[in-house]
Amino acid sequence: MDQTFSIIKPDATKRNLTGSINSFIEKSGLRIIAQKRIKLSKDQAEKFYEIHSDKSFFSDLIEYMTSEPVVVQVLQGKNAVKKYREVMGATNPENADEGTIRKLFALNVQENSVHGSDSDENASKEIEFFFDEKEIVG
Ligand code: UDP
Ligand code: MG
Repeated sequence: MDQTFSIIKPDATKRNLTGSINSFIEKSGLRIIAQKRIKLSKDQAEKFYEIHSDKSFFSDLIEYMTSEPVVVQVLQGKNAVKKYREVMGATNPENADEGTIRKLFALNVQENSVHGSDSDENASKEIEFFFDEKEIVG
C-alpha cells in the first residue's frame, strides 16, 4: 500500500486543531499508521526544508516551524501522495479549493497548517528522516 508523510504544523497545534485535521485525514480514507508529537530543532527544520534554502521565505519558515510542537505522521492508502495533496489543498489558502484542510484551517501562505510529501521519492525520504522502521506500526 502507498505511503506519504504528513506534518501538522505549529499554527495548527497551537490552535488545538490536531484532532480536527486528523478527522479530515481519516474521513478521506487515509490511515494514520505512525505518529508522534515533537518540537523540531533548528537543524532538523533546516534539513527538512533544505530544498527551499535559497528562497526569501526560508529563515521565516524555519522560525515558524520551530516555534511550537508539530505532529509528524505516516499516512497509508491508495495513491497516498496524490490523495493527501488533494485533501490538503493549495499551498496558499487563498487558492485552496473548498473542503480542503488548508481552505478550512490555514491562516496564510506560511502558516498553512499541514505538510504533505510531493512525490513517492520524497515521501520515502521524509518518512525515513523522522521514523525508525519499528515506529511504523500499521
Ligand atoms: N512557504 C512560505 N511562503 C511562500 C511559499 C511557501 O512561507 O511563499 C512555506 C509554507 O509553509 C509552505 C512551505 O513553505 O507549506 C513549503 O513550500 P512548498 O512550496 O513546498 O509548499 P507545500 O508543498 O507545503 O504546499
Ligand atoms: Mg512542498
